[in-house]
Amino acid sequence: MFGPQTRRVKLEKQSELRIQVQRTSPLRLRLLDGKAEIFGYELPHEGWVTFPPLMTFAVFTWYGATIEIDGDTENEYISCETPMVNYLEVHNSLLVQRHRVTCSTRDSVSSQGPRVVIVGDTDSGKSTLAKMLLNWAAKDGWKPTFVDLNIGQSSITIPGTVSATPIRMPVDPVEGFPLDKALVHYFGHANPNVNLGLYRTLVEELARELKEEFSGNAESRASGMVIDTMGFIVREGYTLLLHAIRTFNASLVIVLGQEEKLVNDLKKDLKFKKNLQFLNLEKSAGVFSRNSDFRKTLRNNNIQNYFYGVTNDLTVYTKTVKFSDVQVYQIGDFRESSSTSAHQRGNNPLKIIPVTIDEHLLNKVLAISYAKQPHQIISSIVAGFVCIKNVDIGEERITYISPSAAELPSKTLIIGTLTWHVT
Ligand code: ADP
Repeated sequence: MFGPQTRRVKLEKQSELRIQVQRTSPLRLRLLDGKAEIFGYELPHEGWVTFPPLMTFAVFTWYGATIEIDGDTENEYISCETPMVNYLEVHNSLLVQRHRVTCSTRDSVSSQGPRVVIVGDTDSGKSTLAKMLLNWAAKDGWKPTFVDLNIGQSSITIPGTVSATPIRMPVDPVEGFPLDKALVHYFGHANPNVNLGLYRTLVEELARELKEEFSGNAESRASGMVIDTMGFIVREGYTLLLHAIRTFNASLVIVLGQEEKLVNDLKKDLKFKKNLQFLNLEKSAGVFSRNSDFRKTLRNNNIQNYFYGVTNDLTVYTKTVKFSDVQVYQIGDFRESSSTSAHQRGNNPLKIIPVTIDEHLLNKVLAISYAKQPHQIISSIVAGFVCIKNVDIGEERITYISPSAAELPSKTLIIGTLTWHVT
């Protein structure tokens, strides 16, 4: 799997090695001396780290480092021109705000840490900046919350989700965000236009849950949130951005790699929001641009990683249940399902519609809802996901795959338009 030759790369201070891993084979890398980080995660000394195919990342050093690489890359080069100093300045100003909140004598509910919303086009480096701000904060002992509203390229779990997770330790660049304490809502689509009303509602739901969580947790409240948004910044996308900024009561909006126009528009439309600051930051030239086909591949990989693990280390379980063992619902009318009757297709984006089980479920990714009653589906988080691999109409049984050996924790499943095909 790995070539016989390894090579050493020496990085001067404040430079980074940008790497695109090959399409089919992984890459190994280790830090030999100095200090280096991947998006704010400090590399351990000597230990090899294996990066899966297609991953793009940078190994950055503040003071100089030598790394060793094992394997061929699709592309790699060193750059000394990075916006890292500017990004670190943002981190330092957030630290000051966190300390101020901790020392504040104001009542605990009104004193909150920074709520940073990161805005920009697709591939402007939003998720990457979010990771750095979270990792640096965690390294300094804070416990910020990551809010992921980017349904197209979700970072916490599979695409089509609106979710949040507390960050207690810098996030492993390969394994990604921890899921054990995550609050995950299933939107079910990679495009918000499929059901704008539901997207907004889920964003509001998540904000409400976090508010409740913070009211009893001073440490999380002071540490604040970093909120990643979609790269959809025009028309409905722009309206959704305004909605997210207002809903999470942002204190700072970082606009990445954009002309002044977007910043000016946001400032104008949010002029009545008190204490909201704006920062226009340059995009790193290292951010990898992904066309829509590549983005689709990444989405598919992301779902595959959920079931099989990033390094293929999870056991996937195939299970069969009777139709009567589950209840499948869709939220709103997104005109995908052939099994809902016309009168069920109202305009209500939040209508909970029972779905008849038939072949159209094949390859669909369904969320397992914690809702006890159908009307609780929107306000309930999900336990995880299954993918339907067979529908036996005659025997009235469905076969699904799951990363868990346990029985389904609930009978209530949510369907959207998201599918997964084995690659
Ligand atoms: P966005 O969230 O705006 O769509 P991302 O932060 O996901 O953009 O970045 C797009 C891709 O570029 C990701 O795969 C990320 O790992 C990669 N990337 C970001 N910054 C760099 C860099 N400095 N060097 C190499 N790759 C990078």
